[in-house]
Amino acid sequence: MKFPLAADVELAFFRQIWDKSDDPFWLCQCVGDDFVLAVINPAEEVVDPRIHPGMSLLTYIGGYPEGVQLISGYYECRDAARTVSFRQQVTIQGEEKLFQTMLVPVTDALGKVTHICGTSRDMSQYLQAQRAQEEFSRQLERQVAERTEALNAVNAELREANRILERLASSDSLTELDNRRCFFDKAGAEAVRARRYGHPLSLQMLDIDHFKAINDRYGHIAGDRVLMAVADVLRANLRHSDIAARLGGEEFAILLPETSIDDASVHAERIRQSVAALSIAHGSDRLTLTVSIGIAGMGANDESIEPILMRADKSLYRAKEEGRNRVCANRPAEPARSLSLF
Ligand code: GH3
Ligand code: MG
Ligand code: MG
Repeated sequence: MKFPLAADVELAFFRQIWDKSDDPFWLCQCVGDDFVLAVINPAEEVVDPRIHPGMSLLTYIGGYPEGVQLISGYYECRDAARTVSFRQQVTIQGEEKLFQTMLVPVTDALGKVTHICGTSRDMSQYLQAQRAQEEFSRQLERQVAERTEALNAVNAELREANRILERLASSDSLTELDNRRCFFDKAGAEAVRARRYGHPLSLQMLDIDHFKAINDRYGHIAGDRVLMAVADVLRANLRHSDIAARLGGEEFAILLPETSIDDASVHAERIRQSVAALSIAHGSDRLTLTVSIGIAGMGANDESIEPILMRADKSLYRAKEEGRNRVCANRPAEPARSLSLF
């Protein structure tokens, strides 16, 4: 398209753009593989005071690590004889800058590119906005991480508090064995399991002999120490799957899954002997004690833990009747059988 202004007006027009534009303009001459600055406009003098006519572009960009992109833009513009645009991120005198640069080829009458006219628009404000946005995102991420960490800590505390609460609700505070309620929950579930798979299950009921006399003679605190000592004996004789509990007062129960009555009797005898061997210091006295243990196992008709408990209780009563400090077992007429049809 023909330029619609007269030549003198046209010259004045371009001259004024050159002089008054805020965007820098420069004109380079193509010299071999280099480009020599022929002229720069006042705005370019402001952008980079080190630039001056006569300067080699290769020398100039040698000072910038980002120069490769710039020089390849020049080569592309010259070799393809077409306008090239690119974003250019540079650090000028310690300041990070972003330019949108455009290189326009200037040809001679034969169409050969002899010069390149360049102009840049300073987009650094967008870079600053981007940096501010990045910093804001980083801050946000930090805050989220901090809050998440705080939340995780609170959750961990809550889990720990719940664990303690559960433990408190299910354990006996004096002996730290399971309490009555917890024992019946677990024992009920174990009985159902043993019934379903036809596995043996034994239950021991243990009662301290003449505990009232211990209390009366040595006091309640000494009585409590005895209860704790008995609990320690039980703990020392537990397998992982066994469940020991203090049902109340000086009465304990031990559930032994996968254990026949005979094995449970051997186990009970070991407990009886261990308790009888205890010698608890109390002032200048040594306190000794004995226990009676009643045992029952799962029978063919047992559907739950209750009948087993009743028989174990009966065995315990018999042990007391027969003189205490002994183990009595209630053997079912018929051992448990699996309900499984397979
Ligand atoms: P037996 O040989 O027939 O079992 O006689 P016993 O004296 O052990 O049985 P009895 O049921 O007559 O007495 C149990 C005593 O246990 C009575 C009660 O004061 C005491 N006792 C119950 N709970 C606790 C406790 O938590 N701490 C203490 N120190 N004593 C308790
Ligand atoms: Mg007793
Ligand atoms: Mg009792």
